[in-house]
Amino acid sequence: MPINPAIAGYVEEMRAIRRDLHAHPEIAFEEERTAGIVADKLAEWGIAVDRGLAVTGVVGTLTVGTGTRSVALRADMDALPMPEKNAFGHASRRAGRMHACGHDGHTAMLLGAARYLAATRDFDGTVHFIFQPAEEGRGGGRVMVEEGLFRRFPADAVYGLHNMPGLAVDRIAVSAGPQLASSDSWEVVFRGVGTHGAKPHLGRDPIVAAGQFLTAIQAIVARSVDPLDAAVVSACSLFGGDPEAWSVIPDEVTVRGTARAYRPAVRDHLEAAIGRIAAGVATGLDVTAEYRFIRRNPPVVNDPAATERARRAAQAVVGADGVIGDFPPSTAGDDFAFLSQAVPGAYVWLGNGPAEDGRLHHNSLYDFNDEALVTGASFWAALVEQELAR
Ligand SMILES: [Zn+2]
Ligand SMILES: [Zn+2]
Repeated sequence: MPINPAIAGYVEEMRAIRRDLHAHPEIAFEEERTAGIVADKLAEWGIAVDRGLAVTGVVGTLTVGTGTRSVALRADMDALPMPEKNAFGHASRRAGRMHACGHDGHTAMLLGAARYLAATRDFDGTVHFIFQPAEEGRGGGRVMVEEGLFRRFPADAVYGLHNMPGLAVDRIAVSAGPQLASSDSWEVVFRGVGTHGAKPHLGRDPIVAAGQFLTAIQAIVARSVDPLDAAVVSACSLFGGDPEAWSVIPDEVTVRGTARAYRPAVRDHLEAAIGRIAAGVATGLDVTAEYRFIRRNPPVVNDPAATERARRAAQAVVGADGVIGDFPPSTAGDDFAFLSQAVPGAYVWLGNGPAEDGRLHHNSLYDFNDEALVTGASFWAALVEQELAR
């Protein structure tokens, strides 16, 4: 089975859904309209629907035969709080909201597969179609798991898929091991004593502390992480003082940033190292440092057996030459990690065609490539028919 011909017959409907969702983007935990469309479609095709997990999450369940095996497939539904610069007909109609990560495409593809599987029923067991809210930094997947996703909808394996611009639409990347990094936030607040900029000796300067701290944290990855391990420590926000106050040393300066790693031990190390440097710099300069490290997503690490099954399904759709087995991991994060920590899983990358003019994820000119809809939905269908083979 190369591209599934029955699913190719649903391309117009998938495209229409995808473009409608693109025009009406909704951000984290506000996906009311999107969830309503998803739930209505699933019900229309005879799939049992459960709503309300993680506020706007939707789970469709389809059981065929008497088989006891069960698989879960995850799509994310949320958009980003950013303006869209595209001018085409399906561009965002909501100011400051944009489907710039292709979750509109993910939702449409999983719906296409659900429609096909409900119509053909050529498997034996249960499939759960998970439509999660708030993937973009708000942990909708984590909330679904915490609210009992796999207690209510038990699964032997869970699979996730994300589009990848720059990879041809007839390519699917499936690799074992780390796919996405842990994605954590950190904050350091340096507090001193504000004073006149002309008389710094009368205060204790948190600006100088922040400056030394920013330089010192560059050594964490360079000098204390094994060169064969990947890690990122980035300061992304710095604020202190008043832009109008050119001669006032402020009381405090706040630095915020992100930390990424693929292994739990490296993640732990980054958390300790950033805090140690903040404390050391503060002590040396007689200010204080208040440190917070906020764990958001663990790394997404593919289970070897689930990866092998995903690879076989991908091969059935795009052929052996279309499957990329050594795709490099991304330093982005995905809260699919909480699902695949609970149940063995695999996360694959679906080609989304050329990324012209920098139209990558989170770019204001990005648009999911509809040429990938049939490939992605065919992959989901092949995976279910293979995992739950009669
Ligand atoms: Zn995304
Ligand atoms: Zn994204």
